[in-house]
Amino acid sequence: MSTFSDPAIYAAGDIANAFHPLLGKHIRIKHWFNALSQPAVAAKSMLGLAAAYDEVPYFYSDQYELVIEYSGHVAPGGYNEAVFRGDKDQLKCIVFWLKDHKVLAAMNINVWDQTDTIKTLVRSGQPVDTAALADTGTPLADVLAATGTPNAQKSGADRTGPES
Ligand SMILES: Cc1cc2nc3c(=O)[nH]c(=O)nc-3n(C[C@H](O)[C@H](O)[C@H](O)COP(=O)(O)OP(=O)(O)OC[C@H]3O[C@@H](n4cnc5c(N)ncnc54)[C@H](O)[C@@H]3O)c2cc1C
Repeated sequence: MSTFSDPAIYAAGDIANAFHPLLGKHIRIKHWFNALSQPAVAAKSMLGLAAAYDEVPYFYSDQYELVIEYSGHVAPGGYNEAVFRGDKDQLKCIVFWLKDHKVLAAMNINVWDQTDTIKTLVRSGQPVDTAALADTGTPLADVLAATGTPNAQKSGADRTGPES
């Protein structure tokens, strides 16, 4: 990925303000998963191979007893619905930010093993059944399947553990 006016300079990781095809804009993502994944794309570009970095943005953070993972991207004011799945009072839930019933981003709080499905929901750009999204009795994979999008293979980015 060359993000400079000089095509001989390539950047990856925190320093790169790169065009993101999925988001349709330039974005600088200062997180570990991005720093781990972008260099392969930069290397391909250096070799003259067609390559674009389009991973769904992702980060995790551990704050004492609070473990959070965030997938996707939503700019301030860029959503018109927030859907909670799980128990927000017990801080064991997933929050989804949606626009026109499409999932733009989600944060799982003390909920594990859902990141690949969440990323696929974000990537699909398909409207979802928000009642099913909020219902912990409906597996997220079923919410995704109802959009007609096949689930993704595990990326290895997410933490492991029970959903609830
Ligand atoms: C305190 C802290 C906590 C974080 N926690 C999380 C987290 O929980 N989850 C998460 O996803 N991300 C987290 N991050 C962000 C994550 O660490 C960064 O996104 C990631 O390390 C960026 O990697 P990078 O290789 O792009 O940059 P860096 O890791 O900053 O590497 C850049 C390297 O370039 C070197 N350098 C700078 N200038 C020059 C120069 N002129 N010549 C030669 N070398 C130079 C630097 O010394 C450094 O080694 C955290 C960051 C910090 C600081």
